Amino acid sequence: MAECVQCVVIGAGVVGLAVARALALQGREVLVLEAEDAIGTQTSARSSEVIHAGLYYPAGSLKARLCVQGRAMLYDYCAQRSVPHRRCGKLVVATSERQTDALQAVAERARANGVRGLQWQGGAAARRLEPALACHAALLSPDTGIIDSHALMLALQADLEHAGGAVVLRTRVQAVDRVAGALRVRTHDGTVLDTRLLVNAAGLHAVDLARRIEGLSAAFVPRAFHAKGSYFSCAVRVPFSHLIYPLPEPAGLGVHLTLDLAGQARFGPDVQWVGDPGDLQVQAERALGFYGEVRRYWPGLPDGALLPGYAGMRPKISGPAEPAADFLIQGPREHGVPGLVNLFGIESPGLTSSLAIGQYVTDLPGVW
Ligand SMILES: Cc1cc2nc3c(=O)[nH]c(=O)nc-3n(C[C@H](O)[C@H](O)[C@H](O)COP(=O)(O)OP(=O)(O)OC[C@H]3O[C@@H](n4cnc5c(N)ncnc54)[C@H](O)[C@@H]3O)c2cc1C
Repeated sequence: MAECVQCVVIGAGVVGLAVARALALQGREVLVLEAEDAIGTQTSARSSEVIHAGLYYPAGSLKARLCVQGRAMLYDYCAQRSVPHRRCGKLVVATSERQTDALQAVAERARANGVRGLQWQGGAAARRLEPALACHAALLSPDTGIIDSHALMLALQADLEHAGGAVVLRTRVQAVDRVAGALRVRTHDGTVLDTRLLVNAAGLHAVDLARRIEGLSAAFVPRAFHAKGSYFSCAVRVPFSHLIYPLPEPAGLGVHLTLDLAGQARFGPDVQWVGDPGDLQVQAERALGFYGEVRRYWPGLPDGALLPGYAGMRPKISGPAEPAADFLIQGPREHGVPGLVNLFGIESPGLTSSLAIGQYVTDLPGVW
């Protein structure tokens, strides 16, 4: 006989934990199954830890809506639960006059997304904020911030457990079958679990796992692509107190400067399309490209200051030559499998959006 549990969430990254917490706070019985031996060791451990304001995403997209909503929820949550964070603000910079129109377009898109409080700065005004900055103009986003993402995940896990849920580590889901009135989850060690609601929040492996869900049409499983983002840390103290971003690129936000809560700077991530999602080695020679990118806005970056840091992997569902895809969150109304929710392509701003994604999943029509 299979054990029965009301909800199973696959994956204990920040998104899986936020969804599980939201379900548990509704009074549902929830188990999170995680393949690794700790929570949050995959993409959620390799981000820039930035609370995004919601500047870049197409108006009306899930990325835009869930980022703006998630950012507000996240600041409230951090305050309530004492999760370390800082609303340090960021400057998006046009480094030449030619880029001013593109910066203006970012400002317009941000306003369309409901982002308030943006301030346009001429070069001199921007340099009053950040004297070491080289730019023609800048957009100040005061609501962008930084967060200790591991502390966030621990707080989400604690809420889940306080509400009666649990995380089960070292438990890799192999396949899912359809049985009368339930989905049957099979794990690597032969455990079999029936559930009314199954949320696939397996991050980089969500697409692969979806192909092993019985009865889910291939038409509802996107193609997976992987875009590695490498970071370099800085051997010298950087003279900045805001995050500094160049204009965004097609597949990423450009090689930007972020700070952690201890004031340590990192540059990145760049974009490198790779075949293997496990390819997380930082190639030291990529520093050459970073010097050029960073010196456009910080000419004072000294030679030899960049040191290989870490890399993260974007779980993409659009390829290098395609427009960036939106988050793809599909429930029974879309794919027709009762009790199943798939989360695909949860790249940036997934950390910022995590609490809003949790609410979105619990409110999906046709889930119960
Ligand atoms: C380089 C980079 C920088 C980023 N920077 C930011 C940022 O600054 N701000 C922001 O808002 N967002 C950022 N993001 C996005 C953010 O990090 C992700 O959206 C978020 O971490 C995704 O969380 P997740 O829970 O979906 O995935 P993950 O963290 O990958 O979690 C998925 C979990 O599922 C588990 N799993 C996989 N398969 C199985 C299985 N078969 N059975 C059981 N468990 C399984 C994995 O072990 C993993 O723990 C960034 C992303 C990248 C790559």
